[in-house]
Amino acid sequence: MLKIGCHLSSSKGYLAMGREALSIGANTFQFFTRNPRGGAAKPLDMNDIAAYNAFAAENGIGPIVAHAPYTLNPCAADESIRAFARETMADDLSRLEHTPNSFYNFHPGSHVRQGVDVGIMLISEMLNAVLKSDMTTTVLLETMAGKGSEIGASFEELRRIIDMTELGGTLGVCLDTCHVSDGGYDIIDGLDGTLEAFDKALGLSRLKAVHLNDSLNLRGSHKDRHARIGEGSIGLDAIGVIINHPCLRDKPFILETPNDIEGYAREIALIKSLYNA
Ligand code: FE
Ligand code: FE
Ligand code: ZN
Repeated sequence: MLKIGCHLSSSKGYLAMGREALSIGANTFQFFTRNPRGGAAKPLDMNDIAAYNAFAAENGIGPIVAHAPYTLNPCAADESIRAFARETMADDLSRLEHTPNSFYNFHPGSHVRQGVDVGIMLISEMLNAVLKSDMTTTVLLETMAGKGSEIGASFEELRRIIDMTELGGTLGVCLDTCHVSDGGYDIIDGLDGTLEAFDKALGLSRLKAVHLNDSLNLRGSHKDRHARIGEGSIGLDAIGVIINHPCLRDKPFILETPNDIEGYAREIALIKSLYNA
């Protein structure tokens, strides 16, 4: 069954997100765990969470994807920035246990002139500090565009993070179609080859979710500018192949395209029309 949703604002709480998702034809969604620019998260409203959990169960919503603030940088050179990343992720993960069996997606980080090796070591150091073997949440490393000193534009870099993490066996990967294309992988004429490379480096069983975005830039641009579905360099035909691919068709697809809520409703309807039931 197609799992499709988009990024929603979390400002009105969980039940509001669940209702909004349902109103635009979505059966999953993504949200930032807190203000993307960082800072303390609002205290959890347990009544809202309980109401959301009942609503989601009733309406077949989920699993959902919580996205760490994009300013979180586990491999910054500055220890105080790394401490913020560690504390934020630990706090997010403990909060997420109230919506069990969710995904928690994060950007591996930017090594800021320390080099890839140091960056990968620092990322796994943070994961070793925050991952718990009894969590119901699956933590996902996001595939990145390789902008600046971003780690994770190659599947092999993600593999190295997993290998250096004690509970690496529990980590999953979220494949962002814009990022993977910007990172240099061919997902238009070479989707099979790209998924083979993913399988070889990471194992396809680690692929847990897809960020479904078109890209404003050409393959290998390392830019990370999302386009609406069918309005970028990936194009509608390739998107149709992606959502129906046997290795991908059962994953939750999350749109992170530049859209207001009506635009997302239209895009979700478009994706549904392309999906071979
Ligand atoms: Fe992201
Ligand atoms: Fe993404
Ligand atoms: Zn992006």
